[in-house]
This record gives sequence, C-alpha cells and structure tokens, in this order.
Amino acid sequence: MKEQENSRGEQLRKALSYTKKNGYDRVDRAELEAMDAYCTGYKQFLDAGKTERECVDRTIALAEAAGFRAYQRGMALKPGDKVYRANRGKAVMLAVLGRRGLDQGVNIAAAHIDSPRLDLKQNPLYEADELAFLKTHYYGGLRKYQWVTIPLELHGVVALKSGQVVRVSVGNGEGDPLFTVDDLLPHLGAEQSRKPLGEAIPAESLNILVGSRPLADDEGSDRVKLSILELLNRKYGIVEEDFISAELSAVPAFRASDVGFDRSLIGAYGHDDRVCAYASLAAILQLNDPERTAVCMLADKEEIGSEGVTGMKSAAFDTFMEDLCQSQNVPLRACYERSFCLSADVTAAYDPNFAEVYEKRNSALVNCGMGLCKYTGARGKSGASDASAELVAYVRGVLDRADVVWQMAELGKVDAGGGGTVAMFMAERNIDTLDAGVPVLSMHSPFETVGKLDCYMTFKGVKAIYEAK
Ligand code: MN
Ligand code: MN
Repeated sequence: MKEQENSRGEQLRKALSYTKKNGYDRVDRAELEAMDAYCTGYKQFLDAGKTERECVDRTIALAEAAGFRAYQRGMALKPGDKVYRANRGKAVMLAVLGRRGLDQGVNIAAAHIDSPRLDLKQNPLYEADELAFLKTHYYGGLRKYQWVTIPLELHGVVALKSGQVVRVSVGNGEGDPLFTVDDLLPHLGAEQSRKPLGEAIPAESLNILVGSRPLADDEGSDRVKLSILELLNRKYGIVEEDFISAELSAVPAFRASDVGFDRSLIGAYGHDDRVCAYASLAAILQLNDPERTAVCMLADKEEIGSEGVTGMKSAAFDTFMEDLCQSQNVPLRACYERSFCLSADVTAAYDPNFAEVYEKRNSALVNCGMGLCKYTGARGKSGASDASAELVAYVRGVLDRADVVWQMAELGKVDAGGGGTVAMFMAERNIDTLDAGVPVLSMHSPFETVGKLDCYMTFKGVKAIYEAK
C-alpha cells in the first residue's frame, strides 16, 4: 500500500510539478562538444572586441566571410540574401531575407555591444608631483572600487580636424604596456575603510597612471607630461588638443579565460552583453533560407539608456528596416506589427554568496540555460515592457521544440534594485518583445563570469527564434 502511494505521488509530481533541472543532466556528449567549440569562438570574439567599435569591425569581418554584403538603399533583394549595415562604426544590423514577404513580419534578436568602462575626459592628461595621469568619466553603471589596482588597456579613436581618424589600442598586443588606477595601501587606509563602499572611491579619483619619466635636459614644468605627449605625437601624430575629439576608453586587460577546475565557466570583461551579441551573431551567420526574415541588431549605448544616434532609440534601425521593406513595397509599420523581437541581454545569475538579494524561486541559476525575463525594470516593474502571457507561451513553445535548455529569470528580489534593456524601445515600435539572455555572476565588474552551457543554450535559443515560422 505504502509503495503504491509513493508511485502515485511520483506520477503526479512528474505530470503536474515544475522543477528546474541542471542543463548538464539534459545534454549528450555531442552537444557538449558543440558547446565547447562554440565557446572557443566566443572567447576569440571577446578578445577581439573590447569596445563597440571593435565589435562592429569583428562582426563585419565574420559576416563578410559568411557571405553577407553591405546593403545599399535600393538594392534588389531576394529570399536567402544576406546583408548588413553598420551605423557609424558603433552599431551594426544584419538580415537574412526570408521566403515570406516582409509584410509577414521579421524575427529580430537585439543585443548590445557597449559595456561599462572608464572613458577619458576631453582634456585628460595632467601631471601631479612628477607622475602623469589621465582623467576619466565612467561609462555605465559600475562599482568604482572594483576598477582600482587592476590592469587596464586603452582602446579607441582620435579624430583629427583633417578628417583622419587615428585608432588607438594599447595593452592588447604582445609586449604592450598596461595602465592602472592606484588605491591606498591598507597601512594608510583606515579612514577610507570606514566609508560606505559606494563612497570610498570617488569618481574623480579614478585617474589612470600613464607615466613617470621626466623629459631629459629640461628645466621647465610638467616634464613627465611633456615626455608622454612627445611619445604620443611620435606614435599617433597627435597633439594635446586632439584629445578634445577623441573617444578613448580604459577597459580591463584580462583575456577571456576558462574558469574552474572543470572549465565549465568563462571569465571575461564585457559578457554584458557581448555574450548575447555573439549568440545573436553566430546564429544569424549560420542561417540559410529562413521562412521569415531574420534580423540581428547589435546596438551601442544600452549601458547609458540606449540614447544617442547609435543607441536603440535611434532611427537608424527603422531606416534600415524601412529600406528593406521598401524593396518589397511593404509599409514599415505593417512589418513591425507582425514582427517578434528577442531582446537578448544578460540577467543576474543567482549567487549563493549574496543570497539575501535574490529570490531563488524566480532567479536564473548558472547552468540552467537561457534566462527568459517577462519583465525587467525596478520597483513596481517601472521601465519594463512586460511581455504578454501569449508571447511568453509562444517563446516557450519555440524553445521546447528546438530542445533549448531555458529557465525563467528575474533580476533579484522585488525592491532590491533593478535594471532595464532595449526591450521597451523595441516594444515602443509596436514589435512584440521578450527579454532573454545569459545569467551572469559579478555583472558589470571588470571580470564577469558565465556558464558555458548557458552561453551555448542562448545561441541555440536565438537560432530557434530566427528559424521560427
Ligand atoms: Mn546588458
Ligand atoms: Mn549592463
């Protein structure tokens, strides 16, 4: 009798209860091999792209190798055609034309390729007590204490009045010097240690150390700074005033690396959101002859609110889509209202070391797959696009049919904080949009961590969305 009851309970449990399973218990050896190969490509993408500009360059190189060509307005298009358009070198859109017309809508994956970092100010270089520094203005939400005493690289461009744009990349090359922001020694840090974490490192103290050797045979002032300017002039042909029209960013100098004895994780700078950007890109590069047109949008400026001409609010996306639509005489609005967008952005992974800020039942766990977020936002879902039940059901179906390991995700406890994505800007366009992405540990830190299985499942999930009919 007892035994029968147990088996009835088990049957009911299986039939009625929802339990989240570790993805490693759901994949076979072949899939694990595919996962490892995919993650190797992802790590290369990370090392090649530490700013949005570098990500765009790398994306175009990969796209052209996969048969994509730059789309010019008015170009005739037929099903199966693969095109891309870059927006000012900082955002990029790719499309594979479907067998069905654009009046039937498109399947979009939208991710972002900008990440938190220390931007240089427009008059950055100064000397203090015979040390040379660069003033910074942080970009995106970062915890300032994490950015001191780590190795930094310098990436970006200096635009000259002549129209010439000089590219700068120091720290990524073999034998390159690195940079750093210094911090107090514990011996003298007693007072600083008593300050709240958010106040211990003021933004104006995030000054990057760039030199100490004074100009020889000179009696004047600022000899270290002058010596640095001479080096920069020799290497890049620039003078101090040219910093005014430069975009230079200090980013962590870490290479993307496997983490853990079992190599199941990847540590790197910029998983948010290059992990979803790469998934969206890799999936569209493999796409051939889809039923519906697939569009991959890699946006800039998400970390500062999707503002600006290269952010998701920019009409550059609408212009690209309208150009595609015009080639089939389809009104853009008719295309949008039948389209679907996966807002592919990372979510917070449940961290047992900080369990107090999570609500475990509704948090994404590492290795449980791509995390779907019905809503993001803060407090009472403020700033969320809050996808409909019908839309979540649609995505569940698509992912399950494609054997994707996925889970639901919510960013921490209610009222513990919050965050946003590009989802609401897609939804404003009258495009049905759902957030989904890779769960990340230590998000927005210089060295974020993700699970390889979740990276691969997000790629599989985006591919299933592109291929959905
Ligand atoms: Mn993000
Ligand atoms: Mn972010």
